Amino acid sequence: MRVKNIGGFSYDSNAYLIDAKRKTLVDAGMDASRVLKGIGDGLELIVLTHCHYDHVGAVPDIVRETGAKVAMHGKDVLLLRSDRACVASMFNAPRPEFKVDIVLKDGDTIDLGDSFLAVIHTPGHTPGSICLYNEETKEMFTGDTVFEGGGFGRTDLGGDEGQMVASLQKLAKMDVSILYPGHGGIVANRAKESLLASYNNARHMFF
Ligand SMILES: [Zn+2]
Ligand SMILES: [Zn+2]
Repeated sequence: MRVKNIGGFSYDSNAYLIDAKRKTLVDAGMDASRVLKGIGDGLELIVLTHCHYDHVGAVPDIVRETGAKVAMHGKDVLLLRSDRACVASMFNAPRPEFKVDIVLKDGDTIDLGDSFLAVIHTPGHTPGSICLYNEETKEMFTGDTVFEGGGFGRTDLGGDEGQMVASLQKLAKMDVSILYPGHGGIVANRAKESLLASYNNARHMFF
């Protein structure tokens, strides 16, 4: 896949543009003008890894400009109704108002026109956090579930420690070539070892 990070400054989440037949953005960050500049023409879809404001704040402006459809896991769609649950209050912002056109669940497939992303439900950071996996290339978008260097997401912003460990255990069994986390750097070397380290670190911290 051709993937480019067009976000990720300061507290902003990464915003990965997939230059597929159906141009798709994975997470939007908070800075719509920066991301819109990086998108270019023809964005069709925005897939959100979870409901947190640092990933979804720019969605209303991007949708207004591009007409892209928005997809998110059903459990996090509900949390968009609360300033606190979507952590907009942490950023002194009102909760962003936008429509989720496609409500995702575990096992769904997102058709990018020339490739597919499988939806893996990975609760723990939030109840409706998801990872996205290209089974052909083994690339994985991990949102705030997995970070580089054996990192994993906070569980104190509406998450759950037990669910986080179970989700990381599920991911650690998968074959991965590249990880695209929601913050920090891309993991292009020894991605599987990195994923396993995230699982082991969480297991030792919480159990
Ligand atoms: Zn985040
Ligand atoms: Zn988050």
